[in-house]
Amino acid sequence: MQTYLHSVTLRSEKCIGCTDCIKRCPTEAIRVRNGKAVIMNERCIDCGMCIRVCRHHAKKAITDPLRTIRQYKYKIALPSPTLYAQFKDIQDVNLILMLLKKVGFDSVYEVAKAATRVTEMSKPLFQTIDKRPIISSACPAIVRLIQIRFPSLIENLMPIMSPMEVGARISKYQAEALGYRSEEIGTFFISPCPAKATDVKKPLGIEESYVDGVISIRDLYLEMLCYLKETSTETIEQIQKSTFDGISWAMSGGEGGSLGLNKYIAVDGIENVIRVLEQVENGTLGEVDFIESLACIGGCLGGPLAVENSFIAKSRLKELNKTNLNEKRTINRLTDWDRLFSIQWSKTINSIPVLKLDEDMIKAMEKMEQLEEIYSHLPGIDCGSCGAPTCRALAEDIVRERAHIEDCIFMLRQRVIEMAEDMVQLSRKLSSPTVGHLK
Ligand code: SF4
Ligand code: SF4
Repeated sequence: MQTYLHSVTLRSEKCIGCTDCIKRCPTEAIRVRNGKAVIMNERCIDCGMCIRVCRHHAKKAITDPLRTIRQYKYKIALPSPTLYAQFKDIQDVNLILMLLKKVGFDSVYEVAKAATRVTEMSKPLFQTIDKRPIISSACPAIVRLIQIRFPSLIENLMPIMSPMEVGARISKYQAEALGYRSEEIGTFFISPCPAKATDVKKPLGIEESYVDGVISIRDLYLEMLCYLKETSTETIEQIQKSTFDGISWAMSGGEGGSLGLNKYIAVDGIENVIRVLEQVENGTLGEVDFIESLACIGGCLGGPLAVENSFIAKSRLKELNKTNLNEKRTINRLTDWDRLFSIQWSKTINSIPVLKLDEDMIKAMEKMEQLEEIYSHLPGIDCGSCGAPTCRALAEDIVRERAHIEDCIFMLRQRVIEMAEDMVQLSRKLSSPTVGHLK
């Protein structure tokens, strides 16, 4: 298993310091220093935006390689429903699930099936939460965004585990019932998303994740394709247990739609989510009971670790619904076992005050005044040539002693002009006949 704090990392050797990524990072977590991008770990929410933006492929997501599964005797694949939309000519989900077994998994527990369970189990929870709007916690990048930029909205988060986590727990219990010891069972999420990889290492709302590793769809795709020819001549194994309600969680609107709510909105794309959360914070959003908010455009289908274009992927999922899911839509009601199993968070989610200038309130206010003062001298054109995303971010970096005012080329030019003028004045004084003749 790989060790890392954040899935999203920089390949320094590929970075040319172009500054393209710094302005698109939603938490202003990137700076360019000494010609290379630097990610401020404490601010990064692993949204993957910088992976998409960088034309030089200098940002990458760390996930687990397929060989990691060999550490376990009983290997369970937890495919994200996004996987179902990646293959051009496959209309039967069972065939995709068979390919997962071909690449080395002993069994498959569909995260889409867990999603339907989460939907059913979270419906009664709605009545117990006073805050409105309730904000979905399914996207870990959004939960971290709220911790950093919108701490006042933490109480609005739906305090439940993700379908990935629920799927891992159920499938582990099932494997134990087959006679495997817990240390022999490995659960692996097949992911379109780097934030999920971080979520497994640093889980939100729970002490520990039951997911043992995260494998990128991108990494697994070619391997699965290699077995496609062989599998297509075999009898199709009936593995699929999911319904379209669960599969639709891969698309923006899927979660909210399956909850059967009237007053809900589905927002996708981190910049759109930020705009909506700002409205929630300042009370201008209007009457909305539930916000499904997903960091990627189109939802998980648009994840940076998916292979297929998210628009094509969406139409494929809809096609799947028409062709082979209709007859299965009535399954997945809650069982007694589900009712005993709590999906609620066991741990409080706290704010991450990385944007605070100082722990001490008085000092923080003084630093804010300094920041405003410095900012008032900067040109305010947010050109990014200093390596910070905005002039305000540079002012903040200066107050935090992470940058210098002369990192701004306009201030540097001004300083050079002033120094040149000082030199001229000085040389005039030196050449003046009175200098050297003082008595
Ligand atoms: S976009 Fe960012 S990571 Fe990519 S080359 Fe430019 S500065 Fe480096
Ligand atoms: S993953 Fe997102 S939050 Fe992290 S550095 Fe990249 S753009 Fe910023």
